[in-house]
Amino acid sequence: MAEYDVDLFVIGGGSGGVRAARIAAGYGAKVMVAEEYRMGGTCVIRGCVPKKLFVIGSHVRHEIEDAAGFGWTIPEISFDWKTLVANKDKEIARLEGIYTTNVEKSGAQVVKARAVLEDAHTLRLSDGKKITAQTILIATGGRPNHGAEIPGIEHVISSDEAFHLTDLPERIVIQGGGYIALEFAGIFKGYGADVTVIYRGDNILRGFDEDVRKHVRAEMEKQGINIITGCTISKVDKHGKEFTTHLSSGSSIASDQVMFAIGRHPNVANLGLETADVAINPKNGGIAVDAWSKTSTPNIYAIGDVTHRTNLTPVAIREGHAFADTVFGKRPVQVDHATIPTAVFSQPEVGTVGLTEAEARAQFSHVDIYKTDFRPIKATMSGRDTRVLMKLVVDGTSDRVLGCHIVGEGAAEITQAVGIAVKMKATKADFDATIALHPTAAEELVTMRTPTARYVREAAAE
Ligand code: FAD
Ligand code: NDP
Repeated sequence: MAEYDVDLFVIGGGSGGVRAARIAAGYGAKVMVAEEYRMGGTCVIRGCVPKKLFVIGSHVRHEIEDAAGFGWTIPEISFDWKTLVANKDKEIARLEGIYTTNVEKSGAQVVKARAVLEDAHTLRLSDGKKITAQTILIATGGRPNHGAEIPGIEHVISSDEAFHLTDLPERIVIQGGGYIALEFAGIFKGYGADVTVIYRGDNILRGFDEDVRKHVRAEMEKQGINIITGCTISKVDKHGKEFTTHLSSGSSIASDQVMFAIGRHPNVANLGLETADVAINPKNGGIAVDAWSKTSTPNIYAIGDVTHRTNLTPVAIREGHAFADTVFGKRPVQVDHATIPTAVFSQPEVGTVGLTEAEARAQFSHVDIYKTDFRPIKATMSGRDTRVLMKLVVDGTSDRVLGCHIVGEGAAEITQAVGIAVKMKATKADFDATIALHPTAAEELVTMRTPTARYVREAAAE
């Protein structure tokens, strides 16, 4: 008789857990996956996918506005939020089904239950059953941070609820200056809402290149999104269907919804981690892991958002795959977390890969910047007041392109491709040797010949 019920028990049927389960099952392991909510996890159910569908839909307004310059007359437009939400829900249900089927096809078993650890080899399911496993993978993801307990916090929604609002708010206040806040600001604005973003620091998108931060803010403001920096929300009052949001600056704003998008916490609570001696990383509150995603207990691994390393779907997937290759495929693989391309699907979109100018200048003694800021061809006829930003950060000593930062239509798509070159350590000379593809915005990346700034740090005297 086998010592354990299964070879691998995966807690969480999201991006990372599903990939790990399928690959491990493909290597012949007996695998069980527990999912307490809906298969597919955050990305599929209430993250990347529904968000992107909402973004795509909200872009239609821009297309309609831009159409007149190209000769179109569009007499009357109307938009129905309920149709958008219903169609999105249909698509998400379809994807959820595919996720379940794909796991089952791989030979792994799906259990619709919450699972918690009882000890290093035993799981307790919400239906009371106990399962023993040789190896356990924790892939429980994260959840919205609700922030400090301010008065009226119960009136505040997160991205989870934003996907299921029964009506489009006419006015919305969003706290946060990161990915989710800016993406939803663009979404709600596109569908016609009056949007105010409240951010605690001096400018949105902290951690991104400074030029990107300035450019995105200016472009969002041109569209009429109100961005208030240097303050936080201190209180939310509800009067009937309306809210009054009080700011730390002393002013207040009336709206129909208030949303917080102030980061996400790893799902580590009430998982029984202490019963299995699984340690938390004190620096970020996620499960502490080594480069193999192994926790402090040798047969228990953790991947994805629950480790709070880089909280992106493709990273969770890569970590899940590497775990399964290493533990069940006899092919040890460590995930390289350097130079991960990422996009913010704000409007305009941001695409970025590699080092920011500030990071490069801190690490390299000679940094060349190639930057251009131009009116996209579409705007010449549509009349829209908008500009695209493209920026390359280059190591002036080796000529290697260290970073690429784009703000404008198609930034995410361009960045996925440029990411290959940056990951391959392409030089500026390699970019220059590539013939432009005309007429595109991306051709600017291979036609910028003269640095717009050069920073050379003198060697310290002996
Ligand atoms: P998750 O996908 O969160 O899966 C964890 C699963 O575990 C969940 O289904 C949960 O229900 C389940 N679970 C938790 N505890 C238990 C338990 N005890 N027992 C059983 N099941 C449990 N990333 C991108 O790369 N691009 C994007 O455009 C993007 N957009 C996003 C938009 C939003 C609004 C949000 C919130 C996130 C977005 N992300 C995006 C981030 C991305 O969704 C996450 O990085 C990714 O889903 C992490 O995958 P995961 O497998 O670690 O966890
Ligand atoms: P982010 O970390 O991107 O942004 C959080 C924002 O909230 C920051 O502006 C932060 O300010 C602010 N903040 C944090 N705590 C507080 C507080 N207590 N009071 C007021 N403001 C606060 O998190 P998100 O919630 O936007 O998204 C979570 C993660 O999900 C992202 O980091 C990303 O990994 C992933 N994601 C990826 C997407 C994509 O790939 N397109 C899209 C959506 C999410 P400060 O900068 O000053 O700390």
